[in-house]
Amino acid sequence: MSGSSSGRPAEISSAPLQPHRASPTPRIVAPAPAAPLIDPFQRAITYLRISVTDRCDLRCVYCMSETMNFLPRRDLLTLEELDRLCGVFIARGVRKLRITGGEPLVRRDILHLFRRLSRHLGTGALEELTLTTNGTQLGRFAAELADLGVRRVNVSLDTLDPDKFRAITRRGDLAVVLDGIAAARAAGIKVKINAVALKGVNEDEIADMIAWAHGLGMDMTLIEVMPLGEVEGERTDQFLPLSLARARLERRYTLTPLPDRTGGPARYVRVAETGGRLGFITPLTHNFCESCNRVRLTCTGKLYMCLGQEDAADLRSALRASPDDALVTAAVLEAITRKPKGHDFVIARQRPAAVPRHMSVTGG
Ligand code: SAM
Ligand code: SF4
Repeated sequence: MSGSSSGRPAEISSAPLQPHRASPTPRIVAPAPAAPLIDPFQRAITYLRISVTDRCDLRCVYCMSETMNFLPRRDLLTLEELDRLCGVFIARGVRKLRITGGEPLVRRDILHLFRRLSRHLGTGALEELTLTTNGTQLGRFAAELADLGVRRVNVSLDTLDPDKFRAITRRGDLAVVLDGIAAARAAGIKVKINAVALKGVNEDEIADMIAWAHGLGMDMTLIEVMPLGEVEGERTDQFLPLSLARARLERRYTLTPLPDRTGGPARYVRVAETGGRLGFITPLTHNFCESCNRVRLTCTGKLYMCLGQEDAADLRSALRASPDDALVTAAVLEAITRKPKGHDFVIARQRPAAVPRHMSVTGG
């Protein structure tokens, strides 16, 4: 190690600043501000999605199999550990957190995590704290979430037909979700509806759902089915290309592309007839990776740098190995150097699914 005769490292020498002929000018280096997370393709990582549980009170046919084996609870990060990890990311420039799952609102004491994280909204370190939910628990939690600074929420809803809803979710009650949406709106939370486009299931309903959502002032986003995890049936039977859905919508609506970008996969249009905004998430027919600003943390502390790739970093070991954040910060920095350029999903009539993880593990 280089150092001065006083034993003080040369780079933090406090020697006077006057020019010095005999020896090189001493350099004074201020303590480095925590470097932001920049991946090898110069993408800044400012958005973390956190799956707080792999469990859910529903079993949507495209997301889970009927008989899921859930993780043992002891494998899960505690809420305190999740809070600590989020703090590490926020210290490195992450500005947006999305809590997801499984169903985030079925995790016990989940509001405790929101309470802890909301302090970063107070300091301004965090721009947005939000969640993706199936809406079944919003009736209970919406008011408190709003008090904690949640301004927007994504609610996943694929149909407005109660029987279809029960069939898609294998057990859900549409009325409960609609009440949850109403509770969120009453609490002043902006709701966006996410609907997975499903061949032969809701494809004829999409235009009416848009009219409903926009009529209530809610944005809506359509999602293509992704080959994540094993489910009953064939993916190709569920897959409806959004290019087709869009062409059909254009028979009824005038769609004008918008420049809006979130660093994510959605591309937006304005629907002239409703005045509302409609998003399309098309990972299979369109590549959105070049502007990807996000990484995903599972409830067991695995960090996935890409939803569509298997590579992951184990942050739980680093977190538990030391009460100091240095180790886990180093693990995060190393993981970001492994963020791939993009995914390569393939929908094909073959097993296993292109990515063996269910969406409920990595978080949607
Ligand atoms: N339970 C919450 C919910 O449903 O909103 C949050 C987790 S869920 C995994 C997040 C989103 O992923 C939902 O909008 C859901 O429709 C979507 N999703 C799940 N599996 C999917 C798949 N295989 N392809 C595309 N979207 C999927
Ligand atoms: Fe549960 Fe959401 Fe998956 Fe449906 S999409 S099974 S609500 S995690």
